[in-house]
Amino acid sequence: MSCLCKYHDELISTRRHLHTMPEEGWSEFTTTAYIVEKLRKLGYEVLMGKKVINPDNCLGRSQKVVDAGLAYARKNGVSEALLKEMDGLTGCVGVMDTGRPGPTLAIRFDIDCVPVTESTDADHIPAKEGFCSTRPGLMHACGHDAHTSTGLAVAHWFADHKDEMKGKLKILFQPAEEGVRGAAGMAASGIVDDADYFLGAHIAMMCKTGELSVKPYGFLCTTKLDVTYTGRPAHAGVEPNAGRNAMAAACNAFVQLLGIARHGSGMTRINVGQLIAGEGRNVIPSHALMKMEVRGETGDINQYMYDAAVAIIKGCAISQGCEYKIEKMGEAVDLTNDEELVDVLTKAGEAVEGMTVRKDPMNFGGSEDATILARRVQAHGGKAALFVIGANRPSGHHTSKFDIDEKALDQGLAVWTNAVKEILG
Ligand SMILES: [Zn+2]
Repeated sequence: MSCLCKYHDELISTRRHLHTMPEEGWSEFTTTAYIVEKLRKLGYEVLMGKKVINPDNCLGRSQKVVDAGLAYARKNGVSEALLKEMDGLTGCVGVMDTGRPGPTLAIRFDIDCVPVTESTDADHIPAKEGFCSTRPGLMHACGHDAHTSTGLAVAHWFADHKDEMKGKLKILFQPAEEGVRGAAGMAASGIVDDADYFLGAHIAMMCKTGELSVKPYGFLCTTKLDVTYTGRPAHAGVEPNAGRNAMAAACNAFVQLLGIARHGSGMTRINVGQLIAGEGRNVIPSHALMKMEVRGETGDINQYMYDAAVAIIKGCAISQGCEYKIEKMGEAVDLTNDEELVDVLTKAGEAVEGMTVRKDPMNFGGSEDATILARRVQAHGGKAALFVIGANRPSGHHTSKFDIDEKALDQGLAVWTNAVKEILG
């Protein structure tokens, strides 16, 4: 197949354009509109709204953030008709059926940003070359701008080569990966249930430019929780006995949570990252909000951490006479790549000039909610794999000077198109 140079300029310019206008999870209306317009021009059937997200399974979706995203989209000239199609839900799926019998392949790209303010230092390339975030407090500091531009370039390439392909391609543009929130709703919509194959990738992480990891491991299972304690306010001097102290419940829980016994079978993590409580100096605190997470190397170990946490949260509520509420805000699971797709990716990577395929297990060392979509496909009898496209980066993920070596985008596109060709060619 011919060279991919035709797609180079759009790969870079799309990434840089998206980099200027980052949107946080569940608010990506402008980004979604941009993707939808491109996909439609290329001849894709585009699915949006409840067709691709089950609203009952949306995790960590704040109406305030959604409304701000809608306002930003209107400011950017996104049409009311398109916003109506989105139905308050971001993300979309482009479908192209070749009309020839063959497998269905679902590929997934995430589109949201991180709540970080981007550096404007002269040595930071986006600042130096004029494509810095225009939105203080928001930044594509995890490379999802590169993921989205890669997804659109794959879409363009596939449309160009449709006549040489068989089966069906579904390209998922998933919202709200940060905080592992978006995949659960997309999976619950059933959009990947007919997929024979599923592929997803992340850029950079533990791999340098020129490396392709086809067997990443250590996708930690995680559950993100918001815990609310509700007590009863009272005058701290006159009638403290009439109060029910929500802050005391939360503080006791906090200390005990850190003491959950480690699991003998694998890695565990726990963190309480935020605690907001109380009304004022002389009032018995009647409200407390605790933002926390547990992680585990496997689903069972994560469940162990979750169950132990719930027992503590409940016990501390009882001891202070408070009510408690636990809301699940995000979720990711573990994944073992199917060997058939490891082989496909190995072949795809080896065909790319200058690329080293790392078949040794490499530790991803974080959570990624594409695992939920991948496991859904596996549960329905399909095959799934996640891989990492290496990219040099001057600074770690989620930092204000995060950037990626754009050379990695061309290599990434080559791996993707080779893999798609391998399955649908
Ligand atoms: Zn990421």
